[in-house]
Amino acid sequence: MRVQVAIVGAGPAGLLLGQLLARAGIDTVILEQRSPEYVLSRIRAGLLEQGTVDTLEEAGVAQRLHREGLVHHGVEICFDGTRHRIDFQGLVGKTVTVYGQTEVTLDLMDARKALSAPSVYEAESVSVHDFDGKSPRVRYQKDGTTHEVACDFIAGCDGFHGVTRQSVPAATLNSYERVYPFGWLGVLSDTPPVSDELIYTNHERGFALCTMRSMTRSRYYVQCPLTEKVEDWPDERFWDELRSRLDAKANAELVTGPSIEKSIAPLRSFVAEPLRFGRLFLAGDAAHIVPPTGAKGLNLAVSDVRYLAHGLIAYYGNGDSTRLDRYSERCLRRIWLAERFSWWMTSLLHRFPDTDAFGRRMQGAELAYLFRSPTAQKSLAENYTGLPFDD
Ligand SMILES: Cc1cc2nc3c(=O)[nH]c(=O)nc-3n(C[C@H](O)[C@H](O)[C@H](O)COP(=O)(O)OP(=O)(O)OC[C@H]3O[C@@H](n4cnc5c(N)ncnc54)[C@H](O)[C@@H]3O)c2cc1C
Repeated sequence: MRVQVAIVGAGPAGLLLGQLLARAGIDTVILEQRSPEYVLSRIRAGLLEQGTVDTLEEAGVAQRLHREGLVHHGVEICFDGTRHRIDFQGLVGKTVTVYGQTEVTLDLMDARKALSAPSVYEAESVSVHDFDGKSPRVRYQKDGTTHEVACDFIAGCDGFHGVTRQSVPAATLNSYERVYPFGWLGVLSDTPPVSDELIYTNHERGFALCTMRSMTRSRYYVQCPLTEKVEDWPDERFWDELRSRLDAKANAELVTGPSIEKSIAPLRSFVAEPLRFGRLFLAGDAAHIVPPTGAKGLNLAVSDVRYLAHGLIAYYGNGDSTRLDRYSERCLRRIWLAERFSWWMTSLLHRFPDTDAFGRRMQGAELAYLFRSPTAQKSLAENYTGLPFDD
């Protein structure tokens, strides 16, 4: 098999890249190690910046998103039992849209099927070869047979644990990492959200987040130690812990119900530099991870893909490789700004094991400054709703 671009990974990054390239007449194959059902069962991100919505529109997959997505004009932050609203619309004239990552993925899968573009699910032992030369190849096994795909470029969209970044010679890759000493225990339930907007809570028992996927499906998180196990958290224990961290109004209005998914996600900041190695490009979680506090993971994956797709379209359109040559540099500029924002939100809102009385007072003072300073609120709103693209 020969294609122009071989894409490893059918998460949002790989599927969106495939879609943008297919619409430009560039042929691709997507190789994914899991089944479509498994990919769609992973409950992850749910908040889209305007730039992400624009890119999904460009890919022709935003119809259902516009019908079913919930546009949010602000968020609330709660400290010491009092909520303060950050008014995105008023501060920066922008909004964010609640639409689950699984829905984005489903729309992209359907669009790829409609274009009859090839995807190989349950591809085993995927490996990448000769990307530093002129004839890159990707090998995989399926049903006991080894297959090889020859291509011009390889896109590594295979997430943090994928094979592409690990195939790069260690001496050419710089990694920067911070692992946080806690995780998020998340519950999805078919109950109405406690509020029309997200509520981020800094409580002395730890962080909590009230978010949603629709007006009938809620997603709640509580900060927990990394040693916790999901099995030790029956629904009642989760709801009790959440209630203990919420303000009185949220507590009175919270509707609980059976969980339909429950998981613990560790929090990590990670960046690999650069993002290009000859004819191999890394995009999305393959290249970087942010703690989910700033809602940036999926949005960053989309922004990498947007730069990569535009670079490949220019290359195949008129032989101009300038955008591909600048891919790494342009992505990294946005990545580090998102890393900073996600780290700042995480530091501001969580209880760290070594947070003493002084540390908690400092978090309180930082939040008090935020709530009284329009400039600080504007900075939060700008970063949360997404920085503009330089294209
Ligand atoms: C548990 C969890 C919760 C999260 N919650 C949030 C959130 O609330 N908000 C937020 O903004 N972000 C969140 N994120 C981050 C967000 O979901 C990711 O940033 C986003 O999924 C990145 O998309 P991606 O396509 O780059 O990577 P992924 O979605 O990880 O997709 C990579 C794909 O590559 C496949 N793959 C891996 N290895 C191979 C291989 N060797 N061969 C072939 N295929 C392979 C995987 O099966 C997967 O389908 C969360 C992430 C996790 C893990």
